[in-house]
Amino acid sequence: MPVEAETVTGRAPTRITVLGATGSIGQSLADLLEKNPDRFDVVALVANRNAHALADMAIKLKASIAVLADDESFPVLTERLNGTGITAASGQAAIEEAVDMETDLVVGAIVGAAGLVPTFRAIKPGRRIALANKECLVCAGDLFVDKVRATGVELLPVDSEHNAIFQVFEKDQTDQIEKVILTASGGPFRTWPLAKMNDVTPAQALKHPNWDMGSRITIDSATMMNKGFEVIEAAHLFPVSNDQLDVLVHPQSTIHGLVQYKDGSLLAQLGSPDMRTPIAHCLAYPGRMPVPVTRLNLAELGKLTFEAPDAERFPCLGIALAALEAGGGAPAALNAADEVAVDAFLKERIGFLDIPAAIEAVLERLAASDMLKPAKCVEDVLDLDSEARKKTLEWIGSRTSWH
Ligand code: NDP
Repeated sequence: MPVEAETVTGRAPTRITVLGATGSIGQSLADLLEKNPDRFDVVALVANRNAHALADMAIKLKASIAVLADDESFPVLTERLNGTGITAASGQAAIEEAVDMETDLVVGAIVGAAGLVPTFRAIKPGRRIALANKECLVCAGDLFVDKVRATGVELLPVDSEHNAIFQVFEKDQTDQIEKVILTASGGPFRTWPLAKMNDVTPAQALKHPNWDMGSRITIDSATMMNKGFEVIEAAHLFPVSNDQLDVLVHPQSTIHGLVQYKDGSLLAQLGSPDMRTPIAHCLAYPGRMPVPVTRLNLAELGKLTFEAPDAERFPCLGIALAALEAGGGAPAALNAADEVAVDAFLKERIGFLDIPAAIEAVLERLAASDMLKPAKCVEDVLDLDSEARKKTLEWIGSRTSWH
């Protein structure tokens, strides 16, 4: 690192690239970057089509380049960045160029399978990847982890549960680990009877009791599919077997993850439900940095409660665990079917309980036609992804005649 790149603190700033900069994770991250201008140099910010939000952020964070996936929004971005010295670009080739730029840390925070190609490309020697885009691990976990290992890249989990587990997972004591436990808030319908869940509206499902997140993950939290995805993520991130992974409903979202050891110790990470804490952990790793989140006042909180997940009212969790067990292409198909079903639910084309019904039907049909084989490359994953999307749309269009 050249001497002139060093700050007054004597530490070279970390160069950072953000994929999915304008989303919920991206905004939380931007807040930390803005508060620590000497510590980080923003290289590239990537989003889909939200030109105004991207331009605002690029100016605020003094990014070198801002890139949109969508060409149609490019004129707005160019106009907004005119005269700022920040390069504006759009399209997949421009995203690839931005990902290839010299950087130390890439934050993968695109939502959905759209994050696969750019995040895979971002895995290059000498970098760290802070991964929020869980779809990389859900849809292509083996390929992703293989590439991470082959390049020697350090992979840091942003997802709060995995970040919590990462903080209390003693890497040199893996043979002493009995269980890895992911907590779940249970979402807005935790106490609702099944009959009432038929009539859930998108507005009700979008009201998460504890976390403020993007719309897809909020609906996935309401169905508990998100927890299923997180178990699949954990299976790739931590060297434990599937039956060592457990889910515990904890409505206060105060304990984010736990690891149980053979000596009976249960180590947990606690914190306010604010994504800036796990994001900051990834930014400063292996150190720490100050974050202005609300401090937990345990005395005021009084008590923490726990319960087992209810498989009958939240079938998505079981469907996801079955996909993890089945392996091969099942988790990728699960994610694709879920993305389409959640979108249809948000557009009020299907009901809340149709989400698991659609996903289960699609997985069964793909398995019956032997289409859930393990992927050899990302293109295989994308092919299966588009087939599963097609089948889910078919199911939505002709539910009654599907079987
Ligand atoms: P949001 O929907 O809030 O944001 C998604 C981001 O991805 C936006 O910046 C969006 O750009 C961008 N994007 C979407 N499609 C593309 C594309 N084709 N190319 C480039 N950029 C694209 O999502 P979240 O921030 O909630 O979630 C992001 C990821 O992090 C998800 O995988 C989620 O599961 C995971 N996660 C999120 C948590 C949270 O608290 N939000 C917690 C843990 C994990 P634009 O604004 O232009 O559309």
